[in-house]
Amino acid sequence: MARRIVVCGGGSAGGVLAARLSEEPANTVTLVEAGPDYRTPEETAPELLDANQFGFTTHDWAYESADQVVDADSIPMFGIVEQGVVPVLRGKVIGGSSSVNGANALRPTPEDFARWTGLGNDRWSWDRVLPYLKKLEDDPVGGELHGTGGPVHIERFTEGDGLRPVMSAFLEACAQAGHPVRQDMNGADRRGAGPVPFNRKDGIRQSSALAYLGPARDRANLTVLGEQTVDRVEFTDDGRARAVVLGDGTRLEADLVVLSAGAVGSPAVLMRSGIGPRRLLEELSIPVIQALEGVGRNLRDHPMVYLTYAVDEEAVGELLPPLQTVLAFSSAGAGSGGEVDLHALPFTMEPGVMLVPLGLVRPYSLGRVEISSRDPEAAPRIRLGLLDHPDDVRRMVAGIRQVRQIIGSGPLEKYVRAEQWPGPEATTDADLTRAVLQGKNTYCHAVGTCAMGGAGTPAAVVDESGKVHGLDGLYVVDASIMPDIPAVPTNTTVMMMAERCADELRRGD
Ligand SMILES: Cc1cc2nc3c(=O)[nH]c(=O)nc-3n(C[C@H](O)[C@H](O)[C@H](O)COP(=O)(O)OP(=O)(O)OC[C@H]3O[C@@H](n4cnc5c(N)ncnc54)[C@H](O)[C@@H]3O)c2cc1C
Repeated sequence: MARRIVVCGGGSAGGVLAARLSEEPANTVTLVEAGPDYRTPEETAPELLDANQFGFTTHDWAYESADQVVDADSIPMFGIVEQGVVPVLRGKVIGGSSSVNGANALRPTPEDFARWTGLGNDRWSWDRVLPYLKKLEDDPVGGELHGTGGPVHIERFTEGDGLRPVMSAFLEACAQAGHPVRQDMNGADRRGAGPVPFNRKDGIRQSSALAYLGPARDRANLTVLGEQTVDRVEFTDDGRARAVVLGDGTRLEADLVVLSAGAVGSPAVLMRSGIGPRRLLEELSIPVIQALEGVGRNLRDHPMVYLTYAVDEEAVGELLPPLQTVLAFSSAGAGSGGEVDLHALPFTMEPGVMLVPLGLVRPYSLGRVEISSRDPEAAPRIRLGLLDHPDDVRRMVAGIRQVRQIIGSGPLEKYVRAEQWPGPEATTDADLTRAVLQGKNTYCHAVGTCAMGGAGTPAAVVDESGKVHGLDGLYVVDASIMPDIPAVPTNTTVMMMAERCADELRRGD
């Protein structure tokens, strides 16, 4: 059956969806992206290609979170655009956030999906997602758990193969503190320290634009519209999506509409289309098509603070690649058997400074997104809710103490001179609590704002295939439909979800 499909948002999920859905010749696929479309690597801005840089400096939506940062002058600058403001970085370009991100390709774990099935999403069990995690990757590690030959190439820096001495010393220090050191942090057991698996090839970030859309560009049934903002979706009287309306008023008729505008963009498009919390829609005089209280709620993100150390420039030597290793550990301590809820990732970009970003990957805090106007160009109100929950703060403080022990140990002695932030004077729980509340930032992994779940579940917006409850022909597939946040960076999980949903959607069954 010939179908006109419009995919709204060309990011991590949208790139995968457009490429996979256009493999079916009967589908005519239009991908609409608000940012610029770069068709080839030659056209692409260098900072989007170079996996050692972050592309958000040039291709970002410039959103801010309403989270309060107290007394922000004293905290490190990294990731903070303006003092006192927590940015909500989101790529605005073809490939979306996968074009601007850190290319950290840590995969989600069986425990992550046990939480999803525990929330009633039985079809998202580990054994049913693993085939799609394997399908997307080309990981030389191979074996039962890994795919080879998929679109996204995976690389690690290892001893004797690019691992910098300071990173190697970090792994040794982790081992001394009782953490297992692993060669494959995407393997069966992830607790411990090891080289980060990256979606990069020869230094080039493997975004969805490069890895998925690149090879699909010549298909006659795929059109990519860059620099076009989706305003809203239009419906027939009996609740079937029939067109996508762009910011300039253009209507794209469709048999199937897939929103993949991300954790901020997708709930915003739904709200402008009359799908969302009734009170908000009424306040903005938007006719209610479907009242769904969960739209924009259930936002989950990983909070992060940037421990900062003065280091010996000469001993550290070459600064790039800035990030090579990760420690995944429990706030309850090494050897406690507690769940992995923290990541520490030493990072060097500036001479004489080493950051050790500490991220809480099992947060309890919740945030939200709401549109502030019917205007598609108006920034939504975003509150990430970082560290609102006291137990999130407590576990961050416990994490700082453990990182301090590792950074202060023998293997790193010749590199590290002094702690600059929070600083040696911050010793008590009260000092460290104040410090994390002042220094809180984001690991940039917001998800969950159009969560999947059974119809009638308070937060649920879509069903397990991404179909919006109560409407036909409208799906959401991206980070926003995660019911809970995985304890890893989110890009690979998003791509896996898009692979899986595309498999179901491509033939219309
Ligand atoms: C700075 C940064 C660093 C990160 N680092 C990592 C990392 O190292 N590893 C990792 O796993 N994850 C990382 N992440 C998170 C990861 O990249 C995201 O979770 C993932 O890319 C989200 O995919 P998505 O498809 O949901 O959204 P996105 O990739 O953000 O795509 C949404 C797309 O929709 C477009 N869009 C939005 N609204 C509209 C509209 N109205 N009309 C048209 N287009 C629209 C956007 O421009 C964008 O292209 C990082 C994120 C950021 C921002």
